[in-house]
Amino acid sequence: MAPALESIERVTKVLRGELPDRVPVGLHCYLLACRMHGGRFDEILRSGELQAESQLKAWRTFGHDLIMLENGVCAEAEALGCEIRYTADGPPHVAEPLIKELDDIDKLRLPDPERTFPLNEMLKATRIVKRETGGKVFINGRSDQGPIALALALIGPERFLTMLMEPEHRDWCLRLVQFCSRVNVALGEAQLRAGADSSTIGLAGTSLISPALFDAFELPGARAFCAALRRSGGFAFVHSCGDETILLENLLATGADCLELDPQTDAEKCKRAVKGRASVLGMIDPAQVMSLGTPDTVRNQTREMLTLMGQGGGFIIGPGCALPADTPVANVQALMECARRDGVYAAGGNLRLRS
Ligand SMILES: [Zn+2]
Repeated sequence: MAPALESIERVTKVLRGELPDRVPVGLHCYLLACRMHGGRFDEILRSGELQAESQLKAWRTFGHDLIMLENGVCAEAEALGCEIRYTADGPPHVAEPLIKELDDIDKLRLPDPERTFPLNEMLKATRIVKRETGGKVFINGRSDQGPIALALALIGPERFLTMLMEPEHRDWCLRLVQFCSRVNVALGEAQLRAGADSSTIGLAGTSLISPALFDAFELPGARAFCAALRRSGGFAFVHSCGDETILLENLLATGADCLELDPQTDAEKCKRAVKGRASVLGMIDPAQVMSLGTPDTVRNQTREMLTLMGQGGGFIIGPGCALPADTPVANVQALMECARRDGVYAAGGNLRLRS
């Protein structure tokens, strides 16, 4: 029997369209990692050292193949000058939109990720985790919110979504998302330089906008992000929450190596759509199954997703979105054990799920 692959080889094979030894596990777990670390979330999420410590503690507990590093979804907004409210036991939020007048859009300046808080702390976390895992684990250093989500944070969600519908504001919206895309690219490239193997942006999905608006305002920036990462030798991931069945072709058009998807997206249609074009990371329910379920519930959905999504490769299993802080450790262990046992490939790419 061939020796087991290192995590980084297992994930890289999936992303290159090759068959690994078993389905790798990716854990979107920064909030759970904060709880496992102990202490105030606001202190952990503002410090590169503590972000790294918390993620390393989770990794030493679970042994997942893909570590996803972030400090919430407000980092780029904060770097651009938005006031962010951190809390002791939850994710940070935007306190106040930065852009008051439309002219403010043209005053935005691209931050240097290495010198601007909190991006510099995120990059510090990436460097520490890379060093401490000895290059054996696949690291996803996230680039935070994609163009539209960052625009929503900067100008306020209602205002931006209203402006999208108004022809006289179309150019302002385009200018803003183009700027946001440049921020994504700058952070993504900096994440790769810091040692990350890949980066992710969170895209606005069909819960917010139509596929036509996605193509007009989100797709160009997402394409630029994916192309820039690949040019720099990294892998590009895009994240989209909820049921994105009707957006799958649009998400594939970004050129991403991997789509991060929730279980609401139709798994059978998804498997057919992505075949040979991209991999999928997910599609376990972070809330109903991982946080509120039992180890048995977790095992049932893990086996279901391995069956639907894992056959023939192209799949990294894990929660489709960030695990809530109160997710039981036993549930994550059940996911890990089930993936290690039932996610093993036979020659030819079939999974032999044991009864
Ligand atoms: Zn999500």
